[in-house]
Amino acid sequence: MEKREYQVCSNCVMDTTDSQIKFDEKGMCDHCHNFYENILPSWHTDERGKAKLEKQVSEIKRKSKNKEYDCIIGLSGGVDSSYLAYYAKEVLGLRVLLYSVDTGWNLNVAVENVEKITKGLGLELCTEIINWSEMKDLQLAFFKSQVPYQDIPQDHIIFASLYNYAVKHKIKYVLTGGNYSTECVREPIEWVYQNDLKQIKDIHKKFGTKKLNNLPFCSMFKYKIYYRFFKGMKVYRPLDLIPYTKEDAIKTLNEKFNWQPYANKHFESVFTRFYEGYWLVKKFGFDKRRAHFSSLILTKQLDRNKALEILKNPPYSEAQAMEDLEYICKKLSISKDEFLNLMNQENKSYKDYKSSAKMISLAVKLARVLGIEKRQYR
Ligand SMILES: [Zn+2]
Repeated sequence: MEKREYQVCSNCVMDTTDSQIKFDEKGMCDHCHNFYENILPSWHTDERGKAKLEKQVSEIKRKSKNKEYDCIIGLSGGVDSSYLAYYAKEVLGLRVLLYSVDTGWNLNVAVENVEKITKGLGLELCTEIINWSEMKDLQLAFFKSQVPYQDIPQDHIIFASLYNYAVKHKIKYVLTGGNYSTECVREPIEWVYQNDLKQIKDIHKKFGTKKLNNLPFCSMFKYKIYYRFFKGMKVYRPLDLIPYTKEDAIKTLNEKFNWQPYANKHFESVFTRFYEGYWLVKKFGFDKRRAHFSSLILTKQLDRNKALEILKNPPYSEAQAMEDLEYICKKLSISKDEFLNLMNQENKSYKDYKSSAKMISLAVKLARVLGIEKRQYR
């Protein structure tokens, strides 16, 4: 493929490291166009959002009145899920069960935040501790596969664990902290591919060494069709219906619970920090901060020049990366040399393994036509 000339959007900070990005004659990218044309016109955090949220809350309360909980919220300790837990309990008056997943990588600050929120709100917390030897095998398989998105095992397992638990315990309503305010620009799938079980299994089959009998999995079919239509599960995103900004949320959480922010959006785990800040940037040249900052720029929470300034520096320091690398190698039982050797092998993409990419892309197209999915997908 011919190499494109470098270009960065004149309105956000997405650039040609997203190989499919398109620019108009003014240099504005298609993520921005999508935001102004598809997301913004139907995203209401005023009276209209409030009315919709009230309707959802009364439905949740009505349908769950004979149950122990109204809804379940997956709590990572990050700002979105923490704020959602607070808002659901204190403002919406819902009976919430909090749910967390211990994949073996959580940083103390995340664990402490989870504790502070749980105690501060007086809620119950259910934690699933993931089978470490299987988790390790899956994560090593992913490194060996040479794909960019090394967080898929963790992401998938956290997601599957929560949804499987909710269905098993007949909790119909799942509230998620997903929101346009901080995530309206989606990373292209060449950076971060989908939560695709077919691909996870194929990569593990090729590079794994043991059977995965204890990890929670959940296919797209199970989640989108079986759980929704046969088990009646509903997933709501309250943060899209209220005025929600990162800065205000952090302030509220800090004041009420002494909650502490992380250095970067997803830096709640050592693994995520290393993968996003080092593997993805050094090996592939993909910097997830671009999508995150662009979301904040479009929603007027960050100045574009300030974002460009921050992007001049790597996401985290070489010294911290090397410290994390030692820790990660030790935990995964490989030597640093072995790891660096892995890092120098040929880059691969989701197209090099079995996947449900075609089906997912079709489903997303349909969801966009129906107005369920408004973010760019490619
Ligand atoms: Zn743009």
